[in-house]
Amino acid sequence: MVRWSRRNWLAGLALAAAGQGMIINAGQPRPKKTALGRGSTLTKCKLALEDYQPRSMLHVPETRVPRARFPVIDFHTHLSWSARRGQVTEAHNNATPEEVLPVLDRKNVRMMVNLTGGYGKVLEQTINYWQKPHPDRFVVFTEPWFGKITEPGYPQFQADQIARARELGARGLKLLKTLGLYLREQVTTGPLVKIDDRRFDAMWEAAGAHRMPVAIHTSDPEAFFLPTDRFNERYEELSAHPDWSFHGKDFPSNLELQEARNRVMARHPETQFVVLHFGDSENLPYVAGLLDRYPNMHVEMGARIGELGRQPRATRKFFDKYQDRILFGTDAVPGGVDTPQQIFGEQLYEIYYRFLETEDEYFDYAPAPKPPQGRWRIYGIGLPEKILRKVYYENAERLLGLQKMAVS
Ligand SMILES: [Zn+2]
Repeated sequence: MVRWSRRNWLAGLALAAAGQGMIINAGQPRPKKTALGRGSTLTKCKLALEDYQPRSMLHVPETRVPRARFPVIDFHTHLSWSARRGQVTEAHNNATPEEVLPVLDRKNVRMMVNLTGGYGKVLEQTINYWQKPHPDRFVVFTEPWFGKITEPGYPQFQADQIARARELGARGLKLLKTLGLYLREQVTTGPLVKIDDRRFDAMWEAAGAHRMPVAIHTSDPEAFFLPTDRFNERYEELSAHPDWSFHGKDFPSNLELQEARNRVMARHPETQFVVLHFGDSENLPYVAGLLDRYPNMHVEMGARIGELGRQPRATRKFFDKYQDRILFGTDAVPGGVDTPQQIFGEQLYEIYYRFLETEDEYFDYAPAPKPPQGRWRIYGIGLPEKILRKVYYENAERLLGLQKMAVS
C-alpha cells in the first residue's frame, strides 16, 4: 500500500490530466508550435498586430473629471493654418468660435492659444476672426516668414515682421519643427537650415523685446529617429505615418536638434522660450538639466501625456521641482482625424484632467480604440492644488502678460 501524501496526490492529478489530454486530442489536429525554444507551447497566433485591441482586466478606480478644478489656459492649439490656394495664401479655420466656445465653457478652459496664426495677411485674418471678437478667450501667435529666407536683408525683415505682428495683436511667436527638419537653404532644396542659424538672431531678439514668448517645437519622439522595425516602440504609429520618420537621409540626430535649440536659448537670455512637447519627454533628466541651465526656458505638455504618464513617479517629481516652468497644452486640432491624441473635444480634455488631477492607474492617454503613440497606458500624477493652479493657468498668464484672472 502506498502511503498517501500531498506530493503524490499532486503527481497523480498531473498524470490523470496528461492522460485525459491525450484522449481529448486524439483525432483532432495538433496545435502548431512556434519556434520560441524548447518547452514552448505557445499556439501560433494569426491575429494581426493592427487588429489587436486588448482590454484591461484591472479592477481599479476610474475617476471621471468632466471639468478642470481650476480655469485652464490651453497654450498649444491649432485653430487655424495658413493654406495655399494657387498663388494666394489664406487663413484656413479648423472650426468656428461658436463651435469651440461651448466645449471650452463645459471643460473650464478660459483661453486657447492658437499657435499657427501665420504671418502677413493671414495673421491679420486670423486675429480678426478669433482674437478681436473674443479677446479674453483666444490669443494668436505669429510664425516666421521662411519663404523669404533667400532674400537679402531677411534677418531685419523678419525682425520687423515680429514688430508688425505685435502691433496687429499677436501675443507670441511659434516655430514648427519645420526649423531643423524641413526648411532648406533654397526653402525646399539644398542643405537643411540649422535652428541656431545666425539669420534668425534678430527675430529671437525682437520677440524678447516685444515680450512675445517663443513657442518652439524642436525634433520629435526619439523613436522617430530610429529604423521603423520590430524594435521600434512606435512601430505602428510610424507605419501609419511613414513621413514622420527622420531616420537616415540628411536629418540631424534628435540630440543635435535639441542642442542647436539650446544654443539659441543661451544666446537670447531676455527672450522667453516655451519648449513644446516637453522638449524630450522620454528623457526627463535631460530636460531637467536644461531647465536648470536656462532660466528663460519653460516646457509645455501637448501630445506628450502618453510619455509623461508612463513614468508617473519621475513625472510627479519633475512637476514638483519645476512647477513654475510647466504649461498646460493639448496640441488640439478641431476636426482632426488622423491623430486621435490631438482631436479637439471634451474627451481629450477629460483625459488630460484625469492625468493631472487623479491617481487613477493604467488608462488610455488618447480617445482611441488603440493607443496611437505606442502600446502602453498611463497613470495619473494627482497634483496638489497649488501646482495645478500654476500649470493650468498661472504660468501661462505670467508669460503671456495677461491680467490675473479672478479665481476662487
Ligand atoms: Zn502643435
